[in-house]
Amino acid sequence: MSHKESLNFQTEVKQLLQLMIHSLYSNKEIFLRELISNASDACDKLRFEAIQNATLLEGDPDLAVHLEIDKEARTLTIRDNGVGMSREEVISNIGTIARSGTKEFLGKLSGDQAKDSALIGQFGVGFYSSFIVADKVTLTTRRAGASESEGVQWESSGDGSFSIETLEVPTRGTTVTLHLKEGEEGFLDAWKLRGIVRRYSDHIQLPIRMKKDPVPPQEGEEKVINEPEEETLNQANALWARPKNEITEEQYQEFYKHVSHDFEAPLAWSHARVEGKQEYTELLYIPARAPFDLWEREPRHGIKLYVRRVFIMEDAKKLVPQYLRFVRGVIDSADLPLNVSREILQESKDIDTIRAGCTRKVLGLLEDLAENQKEKYQKFWNEFGRAFKEGAGEEYANREKWAGLLRFSTTHTDKSDQTESLKDYIGRMKDGQDTIYYVTAESFAAAKNSPHLEIFRSRGIEVLLLSDRVDEWVVSHLESFEEKQLHSVAKGDLDLTKLGVEKPKLETSDSETLKPLLEAMQGALGEQVKSVRVSQRLTESPACLVVEEGDLSGNMARFLKSVGQ
Ligand code: ADP
Ligand code: MG
Repeated sequence: MSHKESLNFQTEVKQLLQLMIHSLYSNKEIFLRELISNASDACDKLRFEAIQNATLLEGDPDLAVHLEIDKEARTLTIRDNGVGMSREEVISNIGTIARSGTKEFLGKLSGDQAKDSALIGQFGVGFYSSFIVADKVTLTTRRAGASESEGVQWESSGDGSFSIETLEVPTRGTTVTLHLKEGEEGFLDAWKLRGIVRRYSDHIQLPIRMKKDPVPPQEGEEKVINEPEEETLNQANALWARPKNEITEEQYQEFYKHVSHDFEAPLAWSHARVEGKQEYTELLYIPARAPFDLWEREPRHGIKLYVRRVFIMEDAKKLVPQYLRFVRGVIDSADLPLNVSREILQESKDIDTIRAGCTRKVLGLLEDLAENQKEKYQKFWNEFGRAFKEGAGEEYANREKWAGLLRFSTTHTDKSDQTESLKDYIGRMKDGQDTIYYVTAESFAAAKNSPHLEIFRSRGIEVLLLSDRVDEWVVSHLESFEEKQLHSVAKGDLDLTKLGVEKPKLETSDSETLKPLLEAMQGALGEQVKSVRVSQRLTESPACLVVEEGDLSGNMARFLKSVGQ
């Protein structure tokens, strides 16, 4: 199959490329970071596969990235000897097919350049960022283990189509050649490239090499043409294994962008060496923004697991609980065996220990933010609060910690921003109050205007206003906090006498007079209601719907239906 074919990008990819080229132009040097990041991932993958199958290394075990400048041809080449790609992989990874969520993402763009470039960064442009500086990109690759004749060449001008061809490629790995646009000659300058690599890619574990500028012969010196030596541009050791005081903020942030495929700096991170039952290093980040696939079943990225610096797997589910799936970073174990399969790792008790440790670390980091950097915590909550709340059915080991981190809207602020903790609420409880009251509804407005709140508002008793879909799930699992029961204002009989709310005594004559009305209503509503009763919970509205204690509320029924139960 050595035929050359020309294929078209999906419309979405075309649009994405155009947008990206325009909106990321002011930050164009990031293309190099993206290509180096890919090369590094490819080498990580190869190293892992080679644990099982050493022949994949083909006698060339020194993994590295090489940068090559050709001033005459005006090209910059980034070459790696990593895992490479097959023809199918090239087509699905690099080419035509838009990622899930692309269409939706494009719909969110506003036309405001600053806002859009932040969004595009968040979406992740990766390889495509080459087209910011290149008017033609040639990628040549061969999968490790494939025969020389199974090489692939992909080429595109970023204008809607690309060609793909099968050809001989003597060595494994991937070579990306950028034919620089007019005006981008700066990227042919070794000194400039060195600066960019140090700035954005110093944390890469793999050596990034480039030939030194040839030293021009001094006057009188004989002109010897020596192949210029190569130099390594980065520190080329794992960032997480370096002592903390030798890592700058910027390096932490750039490393985050590499592991998370995010363009924005993270919100916070925690870097620690853990000793005990398991010895490992963890460098965990809280992103500043939710990724596009936060709500998808198979998120693309997670936490990377290394064993003694060798990449083993990336997993969004096994290394932290599902409700913390937004956490990014690496865990490097000193104890796990290298030559285990992913399947065995999935079942490992040692992984469970690491997972428990990481969960505590993340919760600790969040507590620290909540206490000392409230604004950042609020930012975290606004992005990830809804995912975090899923911990209701998952987080038992650190229950109080988890519950303490929850934030809600309440009648105290009457705002839709979820800013109040359960502790805040308890601090404002009335004398004699021993219950945390909440109301659930389909929207914030509906919660806020619920007739169930009338008696509470009139007595100044705070009520949590719950309107996220997941909230019913939270209150059905979280029965109490600091020994205060949670109770729905819409459920069962409300007894507010302890709070000095007198039960208004109905005159017997009232009951008698109301009886025909209740009967008439019951008759009209028939099967739709269990019963029609006289209530003390309303002060202004004539009637409201109440759920029997112990029954599914309307919202919970809707939530369960929405998750397919
Ligand atoms: P991301 O890195 O976020 O997945 P990219 O657009 O940077 O997105 O790359 C898309 C995919 O193309 C990668 O996930 C990888 O499968 C493949 N790829 C890119 N560069 C290389 C490379 N140098 N070697 C092997 N595969 C690569
Ligand atoms: Mg990438």
